[in-house]
Amino acid sequence: PPPYRLDVASGEAGVTDDRIRVKTAPPMVDTPRRVPPPPAPPESAVTMRVLIVEDDDAIASPLARGLEREGLTVDRVETGTDALTKSAGTRFDVVLLDLGLPDRVCFDVSRELRARSDVPIIVVTARSEEVDRVVGLELGADDYLVKPFSLRELIARIRAVTRRTSVRGAAHEPMRVG
Ligand code: CA
Repeated sequence: PPPYRLDVASGEAGVTDDRIRVKTAPPMVDTPRRVPPPPAPPESAVTMRVLIVEDDDAIASPLARGLEREGLTVDRVETGTDALTKSAGTRFDVVLLDLGLPDRVCFDVSRELRARSDVPIIVVTARSEEVDRVVGLELGADDYLVKPFSLRELIARIRAVTRRTSVRGAAHEPMRVG
């Protein structure tokens, strides 16, 4: 037997010119047509607080606006000294640390931040030749980005380092084996 049959009399199919148009059958079971969206990932459920340490307003301003558009809370300072003061009084989820600060050596700031807390540090540099130092000497930074970089790339890095450190440091995280 053929796999299906067109029953013209019952209205299941209609004839238009020489083409047969099969009408859409009603759903067999009463299921919603629209699949509900998957639950939002945990990253977006919690507001992350970011400290931008950057003396160049042409970089810091669009960066702050972009991150805020993504739902992150942003604080900005322009010097290493202010970064240490600010981070002492506020808990940040991640610090974006410019390599070329006006007052202090970035690595000192990174080291001091790390000595005080587990806050993830992403070093931002315009000089790709410095990257080896940033990573190789392991001066507390968790990751680095070379300017110019996209907001999408930055957000991906932020999520990666905050995920790593929350697994590493937080007691409320379930222990992962393997
Ligand atoms: Ca700078």
